[in-house]
Amino acid sequence: EAKQSGKNRFHMFDSAQDAEVKSRSLQQELISQGLSNHEFVLHYQPKVNMRTGAIVGVEALIRWQHPEKGLLPPDAFLPSIEKHPLIEAVGAWVIDAALQQMVAWKAQGLLLPVSVNIAARQLQHQDFAQQLAALLANHPDVDASHLELEVLETSALDDIGSTATIMQECHRVGVRFAIDDFGTGYSSLTYLRRLPVDVLKIDRSFVRDMLDDQSDLSIVSGVIGLAVAFHREVIAEGVESVAHGQRLIELGCHLGQGYEIARPMPAEQIPAWCETWAPPVEWIA
Ligand code: C2E
Ligand code: MG
Ligand code: MG
Ligand code: MG
Repeated sequence: EAKQSGKNRFHMFDSAQDAEVKSRSLQQELISQGLSNHEFVLHYQPKVNMRTGAIVGVEALIRWQHPEKGLLPPDAFLPSIEKHPLIEAVGAWVIDAALQQMVAWKAQGLLLPVSVNIAARQLQHQDFAQQLAALLANHPDVDASHLELEVLETSALDDIGSTATIMQECHRVGVRFAIDDFGTGYSSLTYLRRLPVDVLKIDRSFVRDMLDDQSDLSIVSGVIGLAVAFHREVIAEGVESVAHGQRLIELGCHLGQGYEIARPMPAEQIPAWCETWAPPVEWIA
């Protein structure tokens, strides 16, 4: 009897798994169509020097303008393609679209560094540096050092030998690297030395709770100390209040990104935002 129900359970599990595989491949098909139909867009979130008010760049964040479902956030569709070759096609589109946007802003007199998020699978591709160089060559007006690639700590660490090589190649092309969501992976001092990393981005989960949680505060100040020791820049994500910014400035982290500063917005809104933004008085040096 137990055997019988066990068998049934396995049977049910199989068909549930089956359905999941089917719905994932359907989703992949829809994403592929969405890419051909130009349904993806980039929104941009400003990054600033909180002490001086200087705008240091923007982060490009993908959204899917779905014909029926409306504007979808990346978490709603990227996970189903992160292990699929499609992520490379989407990733190349993101870089190209960001470069086009930089050219358009430059024509309006706005010289703005842009960072884009890079999936692990993109970074593991042997030809990634060549692809990147080709995309940059299509936009000769863009200075490569104005493009920053945000890589998750976990993707950088995956097979660190080959990732380090690819990152070095990209670095020679002239782009900068940031380690995204820093503190959530297995940070080690050794790998920080081996990778051409310019910026550490402190994960927003630590920033969010650092005002009440002593251990999160320790992580935030630890990452800042690490950045200083390794001569890297450091930026905090998830600056959600004036108090967060104040505390970060006191700790020596002057760069910030978060809802208190600005939410991600369509590209067209960026120039006006840059014209009008001023930091809260509490932050000014
Ligand atoms: P991320 O790179 O860590 O980006 C920051 C995320 O935090 C963004 O969510 C942003 O909207 C959100 N955020 C910014 N400030 C605040 C804040 O003050 N409070 C809170 N609660 N959230 C804040 P989004 O746009 O939904 O993106 C989620 C993740 O999706 C990104 O995390 C990134 O890992 C991934 N992603 C986004 N665009 C791309 C892309 O073009 N390619 C790849 N491979 N991944 C992307
Ligand atoms: Mg990012
Ligand atoms: Mg992040
Ligand atoms: Mg994140």
